[in-house]
Amino acid sequence: MEHEMGRFDREGAERMDRIAKTAFAPVYPVIAEQILDRCGIRSGRCLDVGSGPGSLGIALAQASDLTVTLLDSSPDMLEVAKENIRKNGLLGRVSLLAGDVHDIPLPPDSVDLVVSRGSLFFWEDLARAFSEIYRVLAPGGKTYIGGGFGTAELRDSIAATMTEENPDWKSFRDRNLGPGNRTRIAGVVAGLGLPHRIISDDSGYWVMMEKSE
Ligand code: SAM
Repeated sequence: MEHEMGRFDREGAERMDRIAKTAFAPVYPVIAEQILDRCGIRSGRCLDVGSGPGSLGIALAQASDLTVTLLDSSPDMLEVAKENIRKNGLLGRVSLLAGDVHDIPLPPDSVDLVVSRGSLFFWEDLARAFSEIYRVLAPGGKTYIGGGFGTAELRDSIAATMTEENPDWKSFRDRNLGPGNRTRIAGVVAGLGLPHRIISDDSGYWVMMEKSE
C-alpha cells in the first residue's frame, strides 16, 4: 500500500515510528488526556484502530486503567508496535490484533472505547468502517475517531518540522483535515443514523459515537 504519508510496509512502518517518536511525540499524551476527559471512560477494553506503531494506545494505557488492543492491517506496523509495547513495559496491558477496520475480528458489543487517530483518511469504505466500529462497541461505549494534533500550538510546530522533511506535507494535512473532508466524513456518519456528535476544533476532527446501555 502506498500513500502520501508513506507506505505501510517495513520501511513505512519504521518511518512512521520515527515520526511518532520525534515530531509527533508530544501529541499522543495530549490527545490521550482529551479522550479520557471527553469520553469519561478510564477502565475496560479500548481498541486503537489503525494504531500504527501504537503511540496513542500506549499513551492511553499509561494514563488510565484501560486494557488496550492495537488493531492494524499492516503486519509491519504491528511488528514495530510489539517492540514499543515491550519497551514501555506494557506487555500485560496492551496487545496486538491484525485486521482490517472494514471487518474487525472481534465479537459484537465487546469494546468500551474505540479510538483512532490519522487512520480514517486511508479507509476505503467509511460507512462500512464506522458500522463495524459501532458493531463492536459495548453498550455504554464511546468512540473518538479522527485526526489532529491536540492543540493549535502543536499543530503549527509540527507543520514547521514536517515541511522541512516534505514540502508537500501541509497540503497533505489540509486535504485530510480541511473543511471539504470534514464535511464528507460528517455526511457519511450522519447517513448511518447512529447517535454521535462531532468535535471540530483546535484539537482536530473527531467523531464521537455512543452506544446506549
Ligand atoms: N494511529 C497512528 C498514529 O496516529 O500515530 C498511525 C497513523 S498511520 C498515518 C495510519 C495507520 O492506519 C497505518 O498504520 C495503517 O496501516 C493503518 N490502516 C490503514 N488502513 C487501515 C484499515 N483499513 N484497517 C486497519 N488499519 C488501517
